[in-house]
Amino acid sequence: MSEYETIIGLEVHAQLRTRTKVFCGCTTQFGNPPNRNTCPVCLGMPGILPVLNRRVVEFAMRAGLALNCTIQNRSVFARKNYFYPDLPKGYQISQYELPLATEGYLEVEIEKSERRIGITRVHLEEDAGKLVHEGFADSDRRSHVDFSRAGVPLIEIVSEPDLRSPDEAAAYLKLVRSILRTLEVCDGNMEEGSLRCDANVSIRPRGSDQFGTKTELKNLNSFRNVQRALAYEVERQTRILDEGSRVKQETRLWDAAEGRTGSMRSKEEAQDYRYFPDPDLLPLQISNEWIKAVRKDLPELPTARKHRFINDYGLPRGDAEVLTEDRLLADYFEEVVRISGNPKISANWVLTELLREINAGDGNLEKMPVSAGHLGAMIKLIENKTISGKIAKTVFEEMVQTGKEPSAIVRDKSLVQIVDEEAILKIINEVIVENPRPLAQYKDGKTTTFGFFVGQVMKKTQGKANPQKVNELLRRRLGD
Ligand code: ADP
Ligand code: ZN
Ligand code: MG
Repeated sequence: MSEYETIIGLEVHAQLRTRTKVFCGCTTQFGNPPNRNTCPVCLGMPGILPVLNRRVVEFAMRAGLALNCTIQNRSVFARKNYFYPDLPKGYQISQYELPLATEGYLEVEIEKSERRIGITRVHLEEDAGKLVHEGFADSDRRSHVDFSRAGVPLIEIVSEPDLRSPDEAAAYLKLVRSILRTLEVCDGNMEEGSLRCDANVSIRPRGSDQFGTKTELKNLNSFRNVQRALAYEVERQTRILDEGSRVKQETRLWDAAEGRTGSMRSKEEAQDYRYFPDPDLLPLQISNEWIKAVRKDLPELPTARKHRFINDYGLPRGDAEVLTEDRLLADYFEEVVRISGNPKISANWVLTELLREINAGDGNLEKMPVSAGHLGAMIKLIENKTISGKIAKTVFEEMVQTGKEPSAIVRDKSLVQIVDEEAILKIINEVIVENPRPLAQYKDGKTTTFGFFVGQVMKKTQGKANPQKVNELLRRRLGD
């Protein structure tokens, strides 16, 4: 065990999936030509006035409540002042001293036990525009700015420094993403930047009750990069302390290609944002009735659903965890169970064959040709012994290729299992007649030959003979 303890706190930015921006009526639609989604308000023209989007507040409240926060009856928008070409007004509207939601927590499953991670605050803010750089040589280097993203609503979720390892940080982030997606307030796409994470990390001698100096890591656009960057940074800080030096408080950028972090700006260069309440916006007043209504409307959240899968379906923790990480996958699974009536076999099929197919494709369950109803029906065919588990794999493959119904596939390809004893015995007799040498070996006591005979029978029936029946009848026929 290292002589140091790792301390991590995450700041997560999530783009809210409202139809329009936070302070104007511009669409948030992705993929339009640059600067199409703009108006004088989000371009920061003189004399403009922001008008708060009610839906944004509702989405932020959903997130705050799901993260076990207290929703404040009164919160205040503040101006965060800095100059950057992607920021048309010269300030970002955010919340500072009085955020929308405070003091929440999440129970995160870490190595089979649950740990409570504190959430300091959830506040509302607007996104900035996007700079696009092109060209490498000085003569053709240009930068463009796209303001379509300026004014898109964000929430920032700030955790307490309660995380103790890169793995814990990744587990926490996964759960946050899963919750936001379940709430349908954010699509959670990290590559496209709808979910962004900054990680703060420090180390301290084990047993110390004071925090060490932290660094802040930016540009972490996947779970894997969060883990890698943090692991790299813990190692770097350990080396510094071991040398007897001090960690410098700074912001560092993760370079995924190089696998290392590099300094971006130090504390001395840190911005003074000169926050002050935005005079253009009234304090945000939220009534208890509204909070109550939003809370009542919350869907079942991933952790609760996981516990239900464990308790009601008797699934192992690990299976329940994977099945409930994604709301669509959990819905799919429950539909399979409703049709098949067998949760365990359904979980096996969803977690192995189905996930393998999804991952081999584009990772999108919605494009899967096998509907939950069809998979459930197929499992039912195994359960009532119409097909064997082995044949089911063939049927499943066919469903993936054609999207056809399982009973139609079984009928068209005549895959119905052979359970009729006489039919199986007839084939057993054929196999025995055709293989005098293995038979003699078997009679001489070479019992492994038994498996050979089973294999031959299965081969002759194209895998359709019921395996238990084959074993049973073969034993009887060979005189065991
Ligand atoms: P700052 O003043 O730099 O914004 P904050 O206290 O607001 O710092 O915390 C920002 C984030 O950094 C939070 O997620 C918090 O949990 C985390 N954090 C604060 N101190 C430490 C520390 N010593 N080590 C690791 N993370 C920390
Ligand atoms: Zn606009
Ligand atoms: Mg801070």
